[in-house]
Amino acid sequence: MAQVSLRNVTKIYGKNIVAVNNINLGVENKEFVVLVGPSGCGKSTTLRMIAGLEKPTSGKIYIGDRMVNDVPVKDRNVAMVFQNYALYPHMTVYENMAFALKLRKYSSSEIKKRVEEAASILGIGHLLNRKPRELSGGERQRVAVGRAIVRKPLVFLFDEPLSNLDAKMRIQMRAELNRLHLRIQTTMIYVTHDQEEAMTLGDRIAVMRKGKVLQFDTPLNIYEKPVNKFVAGFIGSPPMNFISGRIVKKNGRLYFDEGFFSVEIPQEKSPKLIDYVGKDMILGIRPECIYDKLFSKFSAENTIKAKCEILETMGSKNHLHLSVGRHNLVAVVSPNNKPERGSFMDIVLDMRKAVFFDSSTEESIS
Ligand code: ADP
Repeated sequence: MAQVSLRNVTKIYGKNIVAVNNINLGVENKEFVVLVGPSGCGKSTTLRMIAGLEKPTSGKIYIGDRMVNDVPVKDRNVAMVFQNYALYPHMTVYENMAFALKLRKYSSSEIKKRVEEAASILGIGHLLNRKPRELSGGERQRVAVGRAIVRKPLVFLFDEPLSNLDAKMRIQMRAELNRLHLRIQTTMIYVTHDQEEAMTLGDRIAVMRKGKVLQFDTPLNIYEKPVNKFVAGFIGSPPMNFISGRIVKKNGRLYFDEGFFSVEIPQEKSPKLIDYVGKDMILGIRPECIYDKLFSKFSAENTIKAKCEILETMGSKNHLHLSVGRHNLVAVVSPNNKPERGSFMDIVLDMRKAVFFDSSTEESIS
């Protein structure tokens, strides 16, 4: 069992490719932490430095109490699961899982015990005599995870392990990884570009961009209190709506004025916004915080005229693509709320859930 800590870690490839830029990250013992961000933001490099596959240009990496910068991969007691599974094609599932233990000279009875235990956790006991080519993608991924489990590492490192699976299998494997973490109670660090995977797997999520960690927090805090517009837009699907406008003051109250419509800002959000009166601002509102007034419990305040451009029927919910003032917004509403395409409707924004961003820095204000 181990915590993992990165202190001022930077990785520069060649002369000037800054892949990871002075990050600090503290992963607790037994915690499941997900590194998420767009392609090229430095997630894999961070993971590979923890594994020992890359050396930091500067900064320190600790696993448990030990500074591991100069500790070789094999002595770090971490196990990595890769996107491409990296199974040996000529070996059976059993041999693949046993391989690392054999190298480390474990007795054959101990190897058998560990492989069978891992196979039973993963439900692959019936596949032990097969070769990788005789397995489905999901089964191969389980074998790759099994190969990591048998080593009983201090830390599991996952690099986009579900990317090669189809959508349905990804959701199934996601739940299996959640169960696995509950069962084996070991520190796990997981890299993905998929925000939904991050939200569903992580105890905490580190959202990365351009080699930096922008926010490191629980999924819900990141969803509800994003530190900036990038994080707000990256996490959540459909993504948060952004509306540009101005803060104005009328009769002692603050309003967000889009130009074609204005909405009142709740009292509790006003103190932080008072300095922005007369200034440009971006209002962020999640699709599920926009309601058709006919279907909502909200009173008449903050009602806006909208035109329904497209209705997407999802079964459990509907997505409405609306044109409102100068903006196009997406609302997620109940399945029985299905306005005609091209029709006008009154919508209500739940302004208590709105997030405001400074339009020049894009930092969150409220
Ligand atoms: P991510 O995993 O978020 O997609 P990476 O950590 O793989 O991002 O890459 C971060 C940046 O470092 C990218 O700009 C990438 O092109 C660059 N990079 C990664 N590996 C190398 C390498 N071995 N040599 C040079 N540049 C690299």
